[in-house]
Amino acid sequence: MYVADTIVASATAPGRAAVAILRLSGPRALAIARALWHPLNSSEPAPRALRLGEIRNPHSGARLDRAMCAFFPAPRSLTGEDVAELHCHGGVYLVGRILGLAADLGARLAEPGEFTRRAWLNGRIDLTAAEAIADLVDARGETALAQAIAQLGGALAERVSGLRDRLLAIRAHLEAEIDFADEDLTLPSRRAIADDIEGLAADIRMLRDSFARGRLAREGARAALIGKPNAGKSSILNLLLGANRAIVTPIPGTTRDVIEDAVNLGPWPLVLADTAGIREGRDDVERIGIERTRDEAVRADLLLPVFDSARPFDSDDADVVGATAGRAGVAILNKRDLMQALDADELRRRGLTLPLVDFSATTPFGLGQLRGALTSALERLAAGAGPGDGIAISRERHRAALTQTVEALAAARDSALAAMPPEIVAVDLAAAADALVSLTGVISNEDLLDAIFREFCIGK
Ligand code: GDP
Repeated sequence: MYVADTIVASATAPGRAAVAILRLSGPRALAIARALWHPLNSSEPAPRALRLGEIRNPHSGARLDRAMCAFFPAPRSLTGEDVAELHCHGGVYLVGRILGLAADLGARLAEPGEFTRRAWLNGRIDLTAAEAIADLVDARGETALAQAIAQLGGALAERVSGLRDRLLAIRAHLEAEIDFADEDLTLPSRRAIADDIEGLAADIRMLRDSFARGRLAREGARAALIGKPNAGKSSILNLLLGANRAIVTPIPGTTRDVIEDAVNLGPWPLVLADTAGIREGRDDVERIGIERTRDEAVRADLLLPVFDSARPFDSDDADVVGATAGRAGVAILNKRDLMQALDADELRRRGLTLPLVDFSATTPFGLGQLRGALTSALERLAAGAGPGDGIAISRERHRAALTQTVEALAAARDSALAAMPPEIVAVDLAAAADALVSLTGVISNEDLLDAIFREFCIGK
């Protein structure tokens, strides 16, 4: 049980803007808001209604801003606590000043995700909904958006709850075996129980395997441009990013040394990692760069090998062709505006199997065709990641919980078939149920909770 103090943060991003919203939550939220904000028409603010007023320095009485205020009494609020919002003007100094005054009055600056965490602690939302809020804010494409809003609406939580009900029903059959062992009742056979467990495990495996699709939607597909120095990788990257650059914030969880950016092609963002421009390394820095290019190529969902059609095929090109074996992607035959020394037929003879696009980065020429080929490659990737309908999990945490559930169910099934005492089977089923419900919220591990909420911005 946590003891709630009153927290404050700007719910809007810092920087110049028309409006900034400062949010207070906790037992003193209303008192602090009222010490800062004074209605203009002397009427008290009503719950859940915006009122116009002024922000004044509580020490000197000096006016700081004209602002609106709304309050949301507990428990029907964002966090389940008393919440007050000040809608002031979006000035960097102004917002900092008001936050400072709120702190003087006893509010503490909120940690990232602390509002959402309180909402979860107070039972306003389950964990999947909390994660969906983060996903909604971070969504970089239509599919990610659709997935996040469905999850916020409870789609994943409902699926988990349905699976849990089935698990409980199986446990009930076993309990009957335990409770009525001495009586002459017709109980489901162990084979029937094992079959039920297997049927449930199959459905949970299916949900777990939706991770491939969910991750692609949430994080986008990764593409790596590879090719020998001067083939034109940087130029192509810039053209692809050019006008079609996705509106994104820096992508979390990636190394800062690799510059990457995303374009929206179809429903997903395509993350292009800029390892281009790295030259065959003589010194250490360059060698590290080359290693990174290799890592990036291994990690990528799509490879974009670039060939220089003005230079004859050489051993570097052969390495590049070799790296594409068995991989998805689109090959680019660049510099088609120059005297030609390499053509598509030769690349095919040398073993290249990827779709190939004729290109010139300087003209430029072939950009539309390249985008089309990339979109098709993304669609093939989507089809390979599982059926496009239905709910998809998008986080490693979900996958780990479901894997644990499946493993516990496998153990339960084995014990059931091995005619173990029902108590033993029940223990495995209980472990499976615990792992399953950890998805939506019954989590005892404080570190894991910290990790979940840390990825939020301050003020959420
Ligand atoms: P990278 O080393 O693979 O990243 O190659 P760059 O993109 O830096 O390009 C190397 C050089 O080739 C630069 O001078 C580019 O202007 C030039 N270049 C790139 N693409 C083309 C092209 O399609 N046609 C011509 N004529 N020059 C190109």
